[in-house]
Amino acid sequence: MAYAPPPPDPSLPPVRVNLYSDTQTKPTAAMRKAMLDAEVGDEQAGTDPTVRMLCERMAALLGKESAMFLPSGTMCNEVAILTHCRPGDEILAHRTAHIATSEGGAPWALTGASVLPLEGAGGKFDVATLIAAFRPRTRYAPAQTLVSVEQTSNLGGGAVWPAPTLKAVAETAQAAGMATHMDGARLMNAVVASGIPAREMVLGYDSVWLDFTKGLGAPLGAVLAGSASFIDAAWRWKQRLGGSMRQAGICAAACIYALDHHVERLAEDHENARLLARGLAQIPGLSVETPQTNLVFFDTSGTGMPADALAARARREGVAISTMGKFRGRACLHLDVHRAGVEEAIGVLRTATRAAMAA
Ligand SMILES: *Cc1c(COP(=O)(O)O)cnc(C)c1O
Repeated sequence: MAYAPPPPDPSLPPVRVNLYSDTQTKPTAAMRKAMLDAEVGDEQAGTDPTVRMLCERMAALLGKESAMFLPSGTMCNEVAILTHCRPGDEILAHRTAHIATSEGGAPWALTGASVLPLEGAGGKFDVATLIAAFRPRTRYAPAQTLVSVEQTSNLGGGAVWPAPTLKAVAETAQAAGMATHMDGARLMNAVVASGIPAREMVLGYDSVWLDFTKGLGAPLGAVLAGSASFIDAAWRWKQRLGGSMRQAGICAAACIYALDHHVERLAEDHENARLLARGLAQIPGLSVETPQTNLVFFDTSGTGMPADALAARARREGVAISTMGKFRGRACLHLDVHRAGVEEAIGVLRTATRAAMAA
């Protein structure tokens, strides 16, 4: 069984409009300049000034006592789970959560904790669903120690959790003696879309992290925040996993640059997502989910063509999209895609759909 992505196909033209993922953004010239000029030290010794500055800013932004810099969002999730949970514990999260579907089984493999999948529209669950999943606190049942939410929900179509639901979920978990975690890979998309400040949105969450490699456009890096004692305990896991770094200020500088220059502009991605969704909705056979942020999900079953086949046709015309199910396509908006690119993508997807339906 092959687990690697296919090698690049030299017969394909270059990608002109890359809607595959918001992880594919390239650092801008100005961001690279900030990286070049970064003051650096030894991150794992706590003496890299640029990493320290980033962590202080993130702790302040999120209203938490402390923060740590990690290479990836996946490592933020797994360091947090390792810190909150023990082997045999159970984590309550949505069925589609990244921790359950896209991290190679890491909660089971690394912590020895399982994820109990919860149902709900748009990658979200409500308090009633959460309470219904509570197990009796007996010696027979796994100990339920963590509730995890994803803001925005990736496979939920980029949906934004409403602040009152987040608050109610956190309070319910806390009252039941559980810790709370927020996978905030695209937290700033939720902040920009809702107008609710980040620190308010994450109130009641013991740990929360933000990814800098998605729409914020940095080459790598994510920051995990929480109480001083949580981050202190998390440092041992960061060290054990090899997530402690050296002159990481080079990368932290890109993240600081992104905080200063790439947050407000997420609104443009949301506007482009709406433009794309409106265009796709006019293509016979496609059914489009109304985007709340920068992700546009659509269903190809009305065309009779699997999403993969549509993606392959579009790719031959220089437009890249991803697929998240047999008939489910996904297009991601980000800072390397402009309005003209969106219009081009609509045209390519219209032609590809028409050709497939005629065939
Ligand atoms: C991308 C993503 C992650 C993982 O982040 P990486 O930086 O790619 O490791 C985790 N959760 C969600 C919701 C994501 O979209």
